[in-house]
Amino acid sequence: MRGKSVIKDFIEHIPMDIITNTRTVYNFLNTCYKCFHDVEYPLLGDFSYGELIFQTTDAQDFFLVELIDNKTFDYVREFLKNKEGQKINKADPQKILAILADKINEKEFAIDYPICPNCKRRQNHFNDNNRTTQRQIGFATWTDFEGLTQENKTKRLEEIIHLKGKNLF
Ligand SMILES: [Zn+2]
Repeated sequence: MRGKSVIKDFIEHIPMDIITNTRTVYNFLNTCYKCFHDVEYPLLGDFSYGELIFQTTDAQDFFLVELIDNKTFDYVREFLKNKEGQKINKADPQKILAILADKINEKEFAIDYPICPNCKRRQNHFNDNNRTTQRQIGFATWTDFEGLTQENKTKRLEEIIHLKGKNLF
């Protein structure tokens, strides 16, 4: 009985969307160019316009990102657009979006996808020739960022640009 109520408490304290909002995606087998391990990670097909996958910096967890009707993404793009004439104007808004996402179990998202789950190196060459297993992945969220005032949102973006600079291109 006790165990059951602990589980119930646990479930009641997880926001509903984390329980229900997932999507089935496919893993694809690739060989890491650096450590030569065979690794599997999800890739989206050609019909996934406006969607991305984010991966935690430890390379273990994957989350789906919708770019269409994404308030945070629109905000970042507008912010960069207003930097007309400055170098940062050409930064990749998707990379900034990854940095701004809510952390998952204290883990941040990598700005490049995919990274090898074994050696953590960024994979420059990969393919979707060898589809393997299915994986359920949840959606990334930006609740922390969206909770900021306009002034603090701008401050946060300036801070990211200052810290990450050339990695954002
Ligand atoms: Zn590797």
